This record gives sequence, C-alpha cells and structure tokens, in this order.
Amino acid sequence: MNWTTVGHKKAIQGVYQAYLANRLSHAYLIIGNENVGKTTLSLDIAKLVNCTSENKPCSDCRNCKRIDSNSHTDVSLIDIFSEKNSATSGIDELREAFIAKTNRKPFEGSCRVFILQSIDNMRVEQSNILLKTLEEPPEDTIVILLAENINSVLETIRSRCQLIFLDPLQESEVLEYLNTQFSIDDQVMLKNITKLSQGRLGRAIKMINDPREVDYLNEIMAGFLEIFHFSLIEKFDFSQSVALKLQKNRTKTINEINLWLSCLRDLLLIKSGFENDIYSEDYVKISNDLSFDEIFNTGKAIEETLALLDLNINPRLTLDNFMLRVHHVN
Ligand SMILES: [Zn+2]
Repeated sequence: MNWTTVGHKKAIQGVYQAYLANRLSHAYLIIGNENVGKTTLSLDIAKLVNCTSENKPCSDCRNCKRIDSNSHTDVSLIDIFSEKNSATSGIDELREAFIAKTNRKPFEGSCRVFILQSIDNMRVEQSNILLKTLEEPPEDTIVILLAENINSVLETIRSRCQLIFLDPLQESEVLEYLNTQFSIDDQVMLKNITKLSQGRLGRAIKMINDPREVDYLNEIMAGFLEIFHFSLIEKFDFSQSVALKLQKNRTKTINEINLWLSCLRDLLLIKSGFENDIYSEDYVKISNDLSFDEIFNTGKAIEETLALLDLNINPRLTLDNFMLRVHHVN
C-alpha cells in the first residue's frame, strides 16, 4: 500500500475500509481548505479502485503511474471554476464529461473516476448536469467533488454525496514531510514555511519550489501588522481595499484573512516566550506593545469576521466593524 496523501489518516482509513467491504460510495464530497490535500486524496481513491497490484494503491503499477501523470483515460480531473476557465467552458467540460463519458465503460482501468475541483458556488446550470449523474449513477463510476466550504455547496448536491472533511495537517506532520522529501538544511526556513503553510502541505511545497510565495505571504502578514498603527481613516481605507479584493478573488482574500489569524498566533507565541528566533523585530515589538487579551480578542474578532463573510453578510460593513475592534498601538 502506498498512499500519496500525507496525514489525513481518518479519511484514508474510512475510504479503505469501505473499499475492502465493497461499499465505496458512487459520489464523494471532500471539504477542506485550499492546498490541504483534497486533489491528492481523490487521486489516491482513483488509484485504489484501478490499481492492479495486491497492496492497493501501489503507486507503481501501470494504472497508478498513469493516474499520477494525469494520463489515465478513465480518470478525469476537471476544474470547473478555475480562473482560466470561463463559466461557459466549465459547463461544456462538465457536459462532455458527464453526458458522454459517464455512459462509457472504463477503458483501461476498472472504474471511471471524475474529480471535480472547486465546486464552491457552482452555477445552477452546472449543478443540474451534475445532479442528473448523482441521481442515476452509472456503473463503475465514482464522482468526487472538491469544495472549500460546505455552506457553498447546494444542499441537493451535498445530500447525494458521502462527505469527507480534511482538517489542516499538524505542523509536525508538515515539517516531517518537508524534512524527508527535500534536502534543505536550513531548519529556520523550513520552520517558517511550515508555519506559513497553516497545515496545507500543498502550500508548503509551493513555497519551497517558489520563494516568491513566501515573500507574498510575509507581505500579507506584515501588511496586517500595520493596522495596529493605523488611524481610523486608514483603517477604513484598508477595509475598503480588502472588500474590493474579496469581490475580485474571494478564495484568495479569505485565505489572506486566515493568515491574519496565524499572525496573531505568532504574536501570542512570542508573548509566551516561544521561538523568538524565527520572528522579525516588527513582530516582537507589536507583541510587546499589546496585552495578551488584546491579541486574543483581535483573533476572536477575525474569527467572527470570517464567519460573517461566510454567510455573505455585507463585506464592507463586516470589515469596518472588525477594524473598529482592532486595538491601536502608538
Ligand atoms: Zn497500483
């Protein structure tokens, strides 16, 4: 057995037990943050059902290798909401996949697997195509839907799928993986990347392969620290700019707001005397200027803000409200 998925033991166990009992669902909905491992787990499921070795998934037989290289004819990976895909081409791709392909028998493997990424906020036309397949599942076919937020998936779709929730990985799991997979001696850098990844292994790997990603995340966090020095007008300007960003790219902006939380966690860690060596002076200074309660309450305010944004409450108002709760530091 050779699962590519790192961590997520409960999810893997659930799927594997169902497979052994011949009770795999024809439709899964995997929920978890961006880069947490949803696609990797889906590909593992595709390998599990198509692997020809005894210890499935082996990641070594012809089927497993072809799935890994994204060239297996029975496994389709479709991003229906990617930025490069216009909404219409997403529909065409879906139609092509679901109406034509699902009616065909598996060609080189034993089970067709359709993995649909980013189905959050799917349009009605798209979900109708999907619903038909979920209602009358073709034989030897598994549909795996991936979403970041359960609330953004239509109830009619949700109720027809078996749900799998993927939590962020533990920092120790991420760090251990990076240490075994990459020959990088710089432990301070690896710890920093682990911290910035927030339990999303895909993000950590991205950062190792592209240092600009680290710069981008550090910039977002440094930008957030600034707000403790802002005047009221500057705070409202900032909330306006975030509201605009939300409109343009919701997922990315929500991820950025989540990074603010990680920033506060760092401030709390510094305050408690941990790991001072990996933080810059700005962090240490702000952490000294704020009380434990002030940091903690700002974190609470961010969590409440995220929950309200999740419910689609007016973003500008929600963010303005948050800004009013941020303690001012001279
Ligand atoms: Zn195999």
